[in-house]
Amino acid sequence: MSAASRQFFRDAAAKSADGELHQIVRRGVDSYDAAVLRGQARFVDWEAARRRCHEIRREAIDHLDRYLLEFERRVKERGGRVFWAETAEAATSYVLDLATRACVRTVVKSKSMVAEEIHLNDALEGRGIKVWETDLGEFIVQLRHEPPFHIVTPAMHLTREQIGDLFREKLGGVETDDPPSLVAVARRALRRAFFSAEMGITGANFLVADSGMIAITSNEGNARLCASLPRIQVAIVGIEKVIPRLEDLAILWPVLATAGTGQPITCYNTLVGGPRAPGETDGPEEFHVVLLDNGRTRLLADREQREALHCIRCGACLNSCPVFRTVGGHAYGTVYSGPIGGVITPHLAGLREFQHLSYASSLCGACTEVCPVKIDLHRHLLQNRRNAVDETLRPRSERIAFRLWRWAMLDAGRFRLYGWAARMALRLAYRVGFEGTALDPARAWTKDRAAPPIPRHSFRAIWRKTHGV
Ligand code: SF4
Repeated sequence: MSAASRQFFRDAAAKSADGELHQIVRRGVDSYDAAVLRGQARFVDWEAARRRCHEIRREAIDHLDRYLLEFERRVKERGGRVFWAETAEAATSYVLDLATRACVRTVVKSKSMVAEEIHLNDALEGRGIKVWETDLGEFIVQLRHEPPFHIVTPAMHLTREQIGDLFREKLGGVETDDPPSLVAVARRALRRAFFSAEMGITGANFLVADSGMIAITSNEGNARLCASLPRIQVAIVGIEKVIPRLEDLAILWPVLATAGTGQPITCYNTLVGGPRAPGETDGPEEFHVVLLDNGRTRLLADREQREALHCIRCGACLNSCPVFRTVGGHAYGTVYSGPIGGVITPHLAGLREFQHLSYASSLCGACTEVCPVKIDLHRHLLQNRRNAVDETLRPRSERIAFRLWRWAMLDAGRFRLYGWAARMALRLAYRVGFEGTALDPARAWTKDRAAPPIPRHSFRAIWRKTHGV
């Protein structure tokens, strides 16, 4: 068992017993579900919209090389710079060199899961550069020194009272826990940062190949300020975010907003295409796009699972997942949590270390049902499990158990014998308790729930008795 999986099981056990967390997450997810239902009803045909988004994303990923080169050419034509980062280290070094060269002391940042992936904040702060997260949720979790809880709603696990206490402690000037007042406090702190920062770092929801623009969508307008006020703008984006045409946004933006939050369209949708041109009154002097691979081309090479790169990071699969709802985002211990995290993390960060995430699923298929770009998530989780078995990464005991199970299932007599032995063993274990028996691990299952009653007879015997055959 890897260190990451041991930690996951520890944290998941603790979080799944945290009733307060469950209530907060449930409240958030319930209001999300209602908003998404209303949002989907605004579409003439939500399923057709999903199919169209799936086609656009498939076209982009199947021709990723062509569209990325087109995007690069267009950005350069407008005076922007593009850096191809094969690894997280290469991306981080590029930004650090840039910041050092331009004597950057303060950075304002809008939400970027890719920046989380490469641990950019730590690297910048290690050089003495102050980093301000300007998305409200990210700002809150930054003040708490913790990673985002969810890829769309980073502070989903906190109540307004907890946020009020946090602001009182860290920022002062907070009288109530009333959300507008809390927003006003954050706004005052962040406005100062926007005007003093020399560098703005953003992610991008899409890279538009035919116009060479990055498309950013946000609800707070902070990304637009990060992209226009500081002297230097850097967009750090995974290479899979490219889309072929500007007109594709006409469907992708509303579908992303609906699946992400239930909104018809996000409040601020911004297209940035380069540095400030002569005669323009705003915009950065320098515009850089860092295109991050960091394992994505490995996934691209896997024809069976490359569709995981279609993801538009709406977070819908997290909200629908019974495991995520129970253990929450922090238990995963990875940047990408929930079903999509379980699919891509083993590819991006290693199957040996992160195979357990593919088992953090009941395979109920709820994630696949809600995914707006129709990624067959639960099948990919299953494929990761198969890969783990093929690469003999599963415990020896599990392999032996499945071999025995297969041996029993292939013969009616053996199956009957196994059933009888299992019923006897369970009866005995219930009578004497699990402790110290071979069924000791079952205690974890029955610790928080009633043990199922053990049938006196097998299904076969009951059938024969009731049907006479
Ligand atoms: S896999 Fe689908 S549902 Fe999950 S975050 Fe990506 S686009 Fe959204």
